[in-house]
Amino acid sequence: MSTRNEHVGGLDTSRSQHYHELARTRIPGGVNSNVRLSASPICFASGKGARLIDVDGNVYLDYALGMGPNILGHAPAPVLDEVARTLSMGQLFAGQHELELKLADKLCSCVRSAQLVRFGLSGSEMVQAAIRVARAFTGRREVIKFEGHYHGWFDNILVNVSGPAAPRATLPRARHLQSAGQSPHASEDVAVLPWNDFEAIERYVSANAGKVAAILTEPVMLNTGGILPKDGYLQHLRRLATAHGVVLIFDEVITGFRVALGGAQEIFGVQPDLSVFAKALGAGFPVSALAGRRDIMELFASGRVNHSGTHNANVPSVSAALATLHELSAAGHAAYGRMNALGQVLMDGIAKTAKRLRVGLQISGLPAAFHTCFASHPIHDYTSYMRADTRHLSAFMLALLEYRVRPTSRGTWFLSTAHTEGDIETTLDAVGRALQHLNR
Ligand code: PMP
Repeated sequence: MSTRNEHVGGLDTSRSQHYHELARTRIPGGVNSNVRLSASPICFASGKGARLIDVDGNVYLDYALGMGPNILGHAPAPVLDEVARTLSMGQLFAGQHELELKLADKLCSCVRSAQLVRFGLSGSEMVQAAIRVARAFTGRREVIKFEGHYHGWFDNILVNVSGPAAPRATLPRARHLQSAGQSPHASEDVAVLPWNDFEAIERYVSANAGKVAAILTEPVMLNTGGILPKDGYLQHLRRLATAHGVVLIFDEVITGFRVALGGAQEIFGVQPDLSVFAKALGAGFPVSALAGRRDIMELFASGRVNHSGTHNANVPSVSAALATLHELSAAGHAAYGRMNALGQVLMDGIAKTAKRLRVGLQISGLPAAFHTCFASHPIHDYTSYMRADTRHLSAFMLALLEYRVRPTSRGTWFLSTAHTEGDIETTLDAVGRALQHLNR
């Protein structure tokens, strides 16, 4: 990022850059999540509502929202107040407290497929619990995951998230590890398939029925292009899983409590056996959940299947989630009506601006979480997404940042209940200017 770029927005980030240089002397890369290595190294001072302020005093309209969690915006009073109120109870008991059950009841009332629920801290770890309990329940080992889907950073599942698309005919795909130091053995029981391909999954599951413990899927490909499931695809997965005794796991870490109170499963009308929730559940506080069928989840009760964690269901995280679900479910889920309407205006506005300026920008996803990319061919799966113009996307994201609008560096946009119509107007103006800048 330029320190001062008069051609674009004239953004001065000299203090951020100074901080970054210092941080790199103590923190590898100056960041605490590798996902942040690819973003502009901005050091933030504070956030309020839809806005973030950096240490140079620049104010950004934020659509990264902590990579999705901050569905109520930054520093939302109802959540902070509830956390502050309950902090005097203590923070962690190595035992139970009454708020846990209150949150479990609330979550199960929001999500139809949730009969029992366990809480954790991050999405990655709850995916692990889901895989483990599915294997124990079925007595089988193999887990199907899809190209371009991300399910956390652990060795056994961090495969084929990005990288070269495999030749179409290979089923399952050759496994592609995503990190140096990753054990190739850890993912031996993972079969990677193409998503949105009705025939591929049917063929594979039918031929390997007795082996497959679980089908693990993001219901919308929000880690790759915001690609939506084709009509009937999630239903197809449901039918196949039921027919072959396979556990269907929806990874709703991004979509849960974001696209609807009942998650993507509510929107697409499909009930998985297990679901993983995280991000929006705690509006920015660390809390995640594995929820689903009683007969599967009961395996944790027997002690036969291990799910543990020192900080699980700590008081501040549980309080934050309770306050968040309270806000999101108030007045007949009114928050979603407003947020989705604004998100739709933003999606339509970006598409219209791109068309007017004759830019090959594509936009895909749902109003509360969508993706922008550049391509002249239609994007409907991983293979087509891999041919999108990532350099153009990075330049667009950087130009937007110069105009104080901040989607994620990968081109994903998240809405919050704190965004206003005025914010959307300001954003669309910035989009127009950023695209014009790229066109020069
Ligand atoms: N699953 C999905 C779909 C995700 O998008 C993410 C994080 N972006 C994870 C799992 C991992 O969650 P966490 O970063 O909380 O470990």
